Amino acid sequence: MSRILFSGANLLDGENPARPGQTIAVEGDQIVAVGADDSIANRPDDTVFQLDGASIMPGMVQAHWHGSYRGLDFDPPPVGLEKPPGYLMLLAATQAKLALDHGFTSVIGAATSDALDAQLKMAIADGVVPGPRIMASGRWLITTGDSNDLPEFVFWDIRAKGSQRYCDGVDEFIKGVRQEIREGAEIVKIFMDGGHALLHGPDFVSMTDAELRAAVEATHDRQKLIRCHVTAKKSIMKCIDAGVDVFDHADRMDRECIDGFLAAGSFVCPSLYLIKAIIAKLSENGNENDPMVLGLRADYDHMLEILPEASAAGVKLMVGDDWGTAMTPHGDYIKELEVYVNEAGIDPIEVIRWATRNAGECMQMDNRLGTIETGKLADLLVVRGDPSKNISVLGDPANFLAIVKDGQFVKEAL
Ligand SMILES: [Zn+2]
Repeated sequence: MSRILFSGANLLDGENPARPGQTIAVEGDQIVAVGADDSIANRPDDTVFQLDGASIMPGMVQAHWHGSYRGLDFDPPPVGLEKPPGYLMLLAATQAKLALDHGFTSVIGAATSDALDAQLKMAIADGVVPGPRIMASGRWLITTGDSNDLPEFVFWDIRAKGSQRYCDGVDEFIKGVRQEIREGAEIVKIFMDGGHALLHGPDFVSMTDAELRAAVEATHDRQKLIRCHVTAKKSIMKCIDAGVDVFDHADRMDRECIDGFLAAGSFVCPSLYLIKAIIAKLSENGNENDPMVLGLRADYDHMLEILPEASAAGVKLMVGDDWGTAMTPHGDYIKELEVYVNEAGIDPIEVIRWATRNAGECMQMDNRLGTIETGKLADLLVVRGDPSKNISVLGDPANFLAIVKDGQFVKEAL
């Protein structure tokens, strides 16, 4: 089989600092060689692209993805019931393509209606529509009256509609987990508390310890992952003890939480840009001293302080946000990365590791995703400029000179 060679690359391999003058060889869907330009000899049937110093990095992973969200405002109908399922699938397919065009060759679902993630994953795999590799989520499992369950929803008589599946008690959580997995979920979503723009604030507790443990056990018994919306320290520690795999937000993490994440090997997806966008929106309306805004600002400022410590300690942080609200349209992905670099002061190379190596590991692909090394899957981005010096170059799709997924060009403008 002939190879594709990318030579003269500024290599950001997802692990190490930038290395100029590198060649990456791809054969089939795999990276088969990585090394200095003069260490990899061309073969007559190679297709060679001279990058002239352009950067090459792993395809990124959007680790908190709601494909069908669009324009959700402060007072939405129950999520997943805004439009009929076919319409929502068209939104999901469109926004999956948008993520791919922005360099995300994989996404990890964070809840969806009508098994859209799993069905879109099938359609992408069959070549029906283009899109990233998907780790599918299903409905979120929530308790009656939880932080997503607006008081007016009682009149909708929802049990399992749209993005909601109500579970109360151990048995209903076990059944709910199994049902979502049966419909294609590879990562189950639960809510342990409020906060991070949800009702009731972080001290509110949604699930009993027994429900939490049952949901985690039922998920792990079926060899799937479970992610949890969690903000308060008390709930973070409960989730660490119970074995939750992915922590969404974790706004009030402290050093003890960091140590817990490290010991458990947890993944953490702060999704911090949503908070910034909500604060900006409410402040614009003259509500900057509203208690909710003050609370969000305190959490936001705390995260800007603690995230560099968590990252330096080795917590497996990931990028991905609640794209699709009225304040955070799909496509604005770079704004989240810019928060971590420009406001939290984290080195761009570290944030690139979050988006590639860490989330690639979370994808459960036998460690074949997220870095550029011999034997890994060829998910690659050729980028004009050096994202390890200026993260913002990743925000303009025109800067992607090539996007490669599974060894195939999704885009080739070299
Ligand atoms: Zn979310």
